[in-house]
Amino acid sequence: MAEARDPIADLRRIAFLLERANEATYRVRAFRSAAKALAGLSAAELAERAGNGTLTELAGVGDVTARCVAESLAGEEPVYLRRLVATEGSDLDAEATALRAALRGDCHTHSDWSDGGSPIEEMALAAVELGHEYLVLTDHSPRLTVARGLTAERLRRQLDHVAQVNAALPEGFRILTGIEVDILADGSLDQDDDLLGRLDVVVGSVHSGLKDERSKMTRRMLKAVANPHLDILGHVTGRMVSSRPAGVTGPGDRGHRARTRAESDFDADVVFAACAEHDTAVEINSRPERQDPPKRLIRRALEAGCRFAINTDAHAPGQLDWQRFGCERAALCGVPADRVINTWSAEQLVAWTHHRP
Ligand SMILES: [Zn+2]
Ligand SMILES: [Zn+2]
Repeated sequence: MAEARDPIADLRRIAFLLERANEATYRVRAFRSAAKALAGLSAAELAERAGNGTLTELAGVGDVTARCVAESLAGEEPVYLRRLVATEGSDLDAEATALRAALRGDCHTHSDWSDGGSPIEEMALAAVELGHEYLVLTDHSPRLTVARGLTAERLRRQLDHVAQVNAALPEGFRILTGIEVDILADGSLDQDDDLLGRLDVVVGSVHSGLKDERSKMTRRMLKAVANPHLDILGHVTGRMVSSRPAGVTGPGDRGHRARTRAESDFDADVVFAACAEHDTAVEINSRPERQDPPKRLIRRALEAGCRFAINTDAHAPGQLDWQRFGCERAALCGVPADRVINTWSAEQLVAWTHHRP
């Protein structure tokens, strides 16, 4: 067995690196408090508590810090620390720029068929100008009536329309068909199975019952993630960190423009493990008012082995340029380009969505 490291030194190092990266104070404090709580224990008690899983009974020690301690004691550099060190000293701005440059398309966008502000053609032309090779059109599903979600009938008509628009677009670019399907209360998806099977890309999101209690929300998300039609789990926590920019509309918040919203509560480790198992990508939603998932969850999804999609969730052409925001957060968390599905060509992307386990 490898020689144990000093877990308290590791926790302090993590706090230092987080602080230097200008991360939220409460994150930094979590590691410093844990280091302080553990500094009072004998080496024997520390080892015993790590062994029987009772570290988290100590005030100031949570799951993440306890895991770091267990890894240190096992002689491994904690995964959390390794990721921070991997991005240390690197130019995050350059990394975000490189990641943005590697993106070849956007997998979550809306048109005026649901609650977007512009016709499909305009969204597509803006994407061409941005240098994208594809745009996945993901209008809402029927139950999201406030966003004029598409019935099966309207979605079939949209597919015909997209085929016509594609025929007139420049070579080397195409609109891929898709949907942002509601994850219903029981975890099923709000559209006919045969239609979901026809689409190139299926994004699934929770838009209702965001305050479901933890076990219910976890079950709901697990069922959706295990659905073979679901390719990308959209805006994972549903949080709103700020009011929407003026003139931007979106589902579920008509008349509540100034409202922020807490993250929904679910067991992120279990959900991300399921995403990794079923090869369902986790969305990094670039919208400034969403910034979803928060960075701590992006790191956990990365540790779990998940793929990501860095999407804009654009409801207007200009918002297609918001991918930069998602890239910045991904770079801060050390997400490598090879884990991001929209660095692939349209052919690779569609081959993946149709052959996932
Ligand atoms: Zn949504
Ligand atoms: Zn959306």
